Amino acid sequence: MGIPVRHFDAVIVGAGGAGMRAALQLSEAGLKTAVLSKVFPTRSHTVAAQGGVSASLGNSEEDHWHWHMYDTVKGSDWLGDQDAIEFMCREAPKVVVELEHFGMPFDRNADGTIYQRPFGGHMSNFGEKPVRRACAAADRTGHAMLHALYQRNVRANTHFFVEWMALDLIRDAEGRVQGVVAMEMETSEIVVFQAKATLFATGGAGRIFASSTNAFINTGDGIGMAARAGIPLEDMEFWQFHPTGVAGAGVLITEGVRGEGGILRNSAGERFMERYAPNAKDLASRDVVSRAMVTEINEGRGCGPNKDHVLLDITHLDPEVIMSKLPGIREISIKFAGVDPIKAPIPVVPTCHYQMGGIPTNYHGEVVVHGEPVQGFYAAGECACASVHGANRLGTNSLLDLLVFGKSSANSMIEFIKRQPEDLPALALADVERSVARVERLDKQTGGVQVNDARSALQRTMQAHCGVFRFKDMLEEGVKKILEVEQMVARTEIGDKSKVFNTARIEALELDNLIEVAKATMISANARTESRGAHVRDDAKDTEETPNGRDDKNWLKHTLWFRDGNRLEYKPVNLKPLTVDTIALKTRSY
Ligand SMILES: Cc1cc2nc3c(=O)[nH]c(=O)nc-3n(C[C@H](O)[C@H](O)[C@H](O)COP(=O)(O)OP(=O)(O)OC[C@H]3O[C@@H](n4cnc5c(N)ncnc54)[C@H](O)[C@@H]3O)c2cc1C
Repeated sequence: MGIPVRHFDAVIVGAGGAGMRAALQLSEAGLKTAVLSKVFPTRSHTVAAQGGVSASLGNSEEDHWHWHMYDTVKGSDWLGDQDAIEFMCREAPKVVVELEHFGMPFDRNADGTIYQRPFGGHMSNFGEKPVRRACAAADRTGHAMLHALYQRNVRANTHFFVEWMALDLIRDAEGRVQGVVAMEMETSEIVVFQAKATLFATGGAGRIFASSTNAFINTGDGIGMAARAGIPLEDMEFWQFHPTGVAGAGVLITEGVRGEGGILRNSAGERFMERYAPNAKDLASRDVVSRAMVTEINEGRGCGPNKDHVLLDITHLDPEVIMSKLPGIREISIKFAGVDPIKAPIPVVPTCHYQMGGIPTNYHGEVVVHGEPVQGFYAAGECACASVHGANRLGTNSLLDLLVFGKSSANSMIEFIKRQPEDLPALALADVERSVARVERLDKQTGGVQVNDARSALQRTMQAHCGVFRFKDMLEEGVKKILEVEQMVARTEIGDKSKVFNTARIEALELDNLIEVAKATMISANARTESRGAHVRDDAKDTEETPNGRDDKNWLKHTLWFRDGNRLEYKPVNLKPLTVDTIALKTRSY
């Protein structure tokens, strides 16, 4: 074959919070662990996480994991699996304290305990009133977390492969996973990373939308690789639009700003969330706040010359609080909106932020298809669907998801690796050859489509046809358009490779992944004819049987999209927790 092969016990694709938490567990267990990343580990997108990580530590007021579980199930609009949610909420205090012991510089209360702030949808006593549950390091929590995890990994001898892009998953004839084909981004050298167990922790794919809080590297590579390898994608219709992206720029203003007392106002200066969520107000869950904002704008109460945004007001807060608790936000606001939030409110609009769906796993991090774990294959973090976020994620539950499922998937891998023979099996060549052919197609293509043109067609289609509010005819047309974009992607060219920098090739390979995510999203959204969580359809009627358009009789189930034939299957939601009673279905209000 002529392609070099490197051997490891475990290979992890992704060095964000999920990948590094898993790598630490594996390396500390003495296993030879490779971590591949398109960027330097501490530049992974987790670095952008601002507001905090949730855990019912109860440092500032009474709290309980069961209340956290209730809020997460309710936030998910009952689409989350209750076994996985119970597992995550029970583990939360443990993994956060563990992180503290790894050296994470959390903010502190006067008594030395970890500082906690309120966040949207997190309430005390089964939904009564907002509770302080988000553990924060100012508004740079993800940054602090990544640095703590990276340093621990260096100490544990994790093998980092920086600026290496995984191209495809390798499966043998029985479907067992053997590792990945990868490319060194600087030189284009292709190498096989063969391992006993493989974990995808490749993060999100927010770049399928034109306006996104996500970094340019968030192109859904793990999801695309899994889809090409025959793994279905779960609940891809559910995308979170964060209420407060800076208008015109998309950069995120954390919910922690509202946690510290920030208020959303329309053009009349009205605190409009009092009408939409009388109890939680500005701290209702994200889908609720985003829809309220879009409704205000659509009904003519938006701000600015084009009446196309609302305002986030913190001018009433003590400037000392803004400087100490929200310094990064002040900087973002000055740089991207030209506004000092101490003096004037920040213009904001809902922006694509987070994918709730992904590669289907159980709460052990094993990838599961048709009820059976795929041997040797694991996924954690934003690219995975455990499913703890269901139809809508609560803020700060993602960093928690990385810690809990990064660790649990690594524990499952350790057990699996122990059961494997010492020597790795013969490498399955068919997938390797297919992957190499994908790169060669790009290098040979002439007279094709520019990568930029295909990508912007994809992003425009997703933004226009699959946004905060969804319409039947727009979705149907969106499916047709995205399949046309797929034809463009199949013919992308990168120009004369002796003249272009290698990033052109990387961007084309990333586009192969974006298109899989976009197809899965549009086709799954078109099929789900109810409104639930972040998926809101204009034609889903609010009736006694279907409150807010949610149709539990027909749609309380997970979507599975298979790339082969764009086929959809459905599987039941697990409503049975591990030790407590089911959180019974209710209409969601805040
Ligand atoms: C602006 C912003 C603020 C946020 N704030 C919060 C918050 O306060 N609290 C919270 O809970 N959540 C927050 N979130 C969400 C949370 O940050 C993310 O969901 C989470 O960090 C994702 O972590 P991850 O480990 O899954 O992936 P990432 O951190 O995105 O890491 C992905 C890794 O995969 C690598 N990779 C990808 N593709 C390949 C490939 N083909 N080959 C090799 N490597 C690859 C990348 O290089 C990277 O190392 C925020 C999100 C955004 C956008």
